[in-house]
Amino acid sequence: MTTAADSSASLEDLRARVSAVMPGVAADLARLVAIPSCAFPGFPAEPVLEMAEETVALLRRSGLPNARLLEVAGGYPVVYADRPAPPGTPTVLLYAHYDVQPAPPEQGWTIDPWNPVVREGRLYGRGAADDKSGIAMHAATLQALGDGVAIGLRVVIEGEEETESHLEAFALANPELFNADVYVIADGGNEQVGEPVIEVTTRGGVVLDIEVSTLERPVHSGLFGGGAPDALMALMRLLATLHDDAGDVAVAGLAGSEWRGGDTDEELFRRASGMLPGQPLVGTGRLSSRLWSRPAISVIGLDAAPTHGAVNALAPRAKATVSMRIPPGADADRECQLLTEHLLAAAPWGVSVDVKPTAGWPGWSTSPDGPAVTTARAAMADVYGKPTEVIGSGGSIPLLTTLAEINPAAEFVLWGAEDGAQANIHSANESVDLQELERAALAQTVFLHRLGAGVSSG
Ligand SMILES: [Zn+2]
Repeated sequence: MTTAADSSASLEDLRARVSAVMPGVAADLARLVAIPSCAFPGFPAEPVLEMAEETVALLRRSGLPNARLLEVAGGYPVVYADRPAPPGTPTVLLYAHYDVQPAPPEQGWTIDPWNPVVREGRLYGRGAADDKSGIAMHAATLQALGDGVAIGLRVVIEGEEETESHLEAFALANPELFNADVYVIADGGNEQVGEPVIEVTTRGGVVLDIEVSTLERPVHSGLFGGGAPDALMALMRLLATLHDDAGDVAVAGLAGSEWRGGDTDEELFRRASGMLPGQPLVGTGRLSSRLWSRPAISVIGLDAAPTHGAVNALAPRAKATVSMRIPPGADADRECQLLTEHLLAAAPWGVSVDVKPTAGWPGWSTSPDGPAVTTARAAMADVYGKPTEVIGSGGSIPLLTTLAEINPAAEFVLWGAEDGAQANIHSANESVDLQELERAALAQTVFLHRLGAGVSSG
């Protein structure tokens, strides 16, 4: 029930409430991080199921007594809870995932990934950021809000985000469980701690196999080289036409535009990408455009003779797998068609080229000016004390497309406590900054409170 006191709660009231629940939430997070919930094939199921049960218990303690596990065919269960919307109020779905990446010693861990420790305000351990911090963020928000906010809630904590997910099929088969006006995805974060950003686009992609055939069989490179075409050389010349000398994509007609939101930090990008010292970036124009709103092409597979034991022979056939990232809003079929036409037209020396598309998916976007996103940006700006920049992501999150299919009118808020500079997700010594987690939880609490109660800022 919404009370008068609740609907007039100020930012400072909410700050006090979140800060009161944070010690307990941080302790819960540390306990969850100690559970090695790797859902990849070959890893034991018990810890994954234990993690699912612990997440249910945490949501129940956080004010959602109907939290439960829902079986997902072929995969790990999803943790689910809901609270119906009072008439005329929006429903918000809070998403995070409880599975984690493995933490093999080869990654260079200097601490035990399953025995979390706090150092200089950061909690270290596998999953501390990705994405058990998302679960902690939702728990803190629910505890701080209590039941005094007039919105409907659904909470979905997935168990297979890092591995082959069965959740999309489950969601499409059970749309009534996933329908919401606003989807809040807590599996991201600011580039740097304390610098608020909100993600409004992801790129889509196209993958295709390219095979060049020139000869019936391998033949002697001394006797025939110079006259007979080497398929690998032909394939490399063909692949080389995909970029210009500056490293920009050189396929005519592809969709792409200049990024209109915030910039990405070049130094951070350099460090995060592991580029070698002295290696310049490729491409031209704003880095944010190159990463978020223009296409990018990479060779992700190549079948060729290995150098070990190489013999003097011309390759009769050569094959590459090419991945092209496409901007949000671009049609994957059209972009794939343009890339295919380019490859067929650019084949050198009259060689025979076979192009087979193997995958294609659209990007995703939510309006940076939609009412819920605007409310979220303002909540974040108030909490962090600076404007919230709008950024994109070069990667893809297939679930977003599925959710947008379930409710095409829905808005999305993508944020979290996984800072890009130090969180080291998917890598050694993963960590989350506990102050950043508190700010993220507070921003989410203020956001939901304003959605429900129309609290004025400040
Ligand atoms: Zn994640």
